[in-house]
Amino acid sequence: MPLSPGQLEEIEAQRNQTAPTRRVVAPGMEAHLYTAHPVLDHGFVRVIDYMGDDAAICQAARVSYGKGTKSVQNDEGLIRYLMRHWHSTPFEMCEIKLHVKLPVFVARQWIRHRTANVNEYSARYSILDREFYIPAPENLAAQSEVNNQGRGAALEGEEAARVLEYLKADSARAYDHYEEMIGQDGQQGLARELARMNLPANIYTQWYWKVDLHNLFHFLRLRADAHAQYEIRVYADALCKVVADWVPFAYRAFEDYRLGAVTLSAQMLACLRRMLAGEAVTQENSGLTAREWREFQAVLAD
Ligand SMILES: Cc1cc2nc3c(=O)[nH]c(=O)nc-3n(C[C@H](O)[C@H](O)[C@H](O)COP(=O)(O)OP(=O)(O)OC[C@H]3O[C@@H](n4cnc5c(N)ncnc54)[C@H](O)[C@@H]3O)c2cc1C
Repeated sequence: MPLSPGQLEEIEAQRNQTAPTRRVVAPGMEAHLYTAHPVLDHGFVRVIDYMGDDAAICQAARVSYGKGTKSVQNDEGLIRYLMRHWHSTPFEMCEIKLHVKLPVFVARQWIRHRTANVNEYSARYSILDREFYIPAPENLAAQSEVNNQGRGAALEGEEAARVLEYLKADSARAYDHYEEMIGQDGQQGLARELARMNLPANIYTQWYWKVDLHNLFHFLRLRADAHAQYEIRVYADALCKVVADWVPFAYRAFEDYRLGAVTLSAQMLACLRRMLAGEAVTQENSGLTAREWREFQAVLAD
């Protein structure tokens, strides 16, 4: 577990505090509050705060004076309708604030999602921990032969051992030099903001990340997808479990209409209609490019 006994104690103290409130609370989310869910070898995600629940989405959609709930069944139907028809603003009424610990190369992908509020641990002010992401052997994969932006089977034997050794040794050496450069025993000590530049992208950073549910779903749609890089996908998967407990109706609608859904182009839809009418459609007579045809076939075969 990546947390020290002192940090675990602080979290436990937070978990033990309660306050009476008139605000809506989501029981599923209360259970997650502050708990650190481990991800990768040193990372985690934990919920620091949240606002709203399934009923809050309906309340906003109906611009209601009361709780917004007509009946549980009505609420789920309304949420599914909103999701199906891209009426997205009611989902923005729910928010979540997370504490995330993640390798820098994962953070670079994550930060591209601009519709969130971020505050990152300052490596100008503080000293970074000696914690590096080292992939488990089954995730030490070869370059994919069919996809430039993907990976193939796991490396094996002597090559796997050598690569692992490089990753560990290079990380350790870079950190040793980092420590030595900022150390002040008998020297001025290089500024932390400069010394960090020789650290590799597998070192861990941390941030607080606040986002509304609509934009979180957009993030999860892209990053929990099978094509997303494994190292960010595992964070998205952990978050999917949290969101499923927080807003179960909205999450189910998201799974059905986004995560498990596909987009067909006009040409693909035309092909599908011709197939359903019994016509033998091939790539040559489909009007699709070879790559589009492959992707279309993959959708049909799934
Ligand atoms: C599989 C995959 C591969 C990728 N490969 C690359 C790559 O090779 N190189 C690379 O640079 N990036 C890459 N990305 C990142 C990608 O291009 C997006 O930057 C990232 O997914 C964030 O998506 P977003 O902009 O929709 O999200 P957000 O920034 O959260 O924005 C959400 C939505 O808000 C709107 N929006 C936000 N800001 C603006 C703005 N300034 N102007 C207009 N509209 C805005 C857009 O509609 C946007 O979709 C990749 C992403 C994925 C999932």
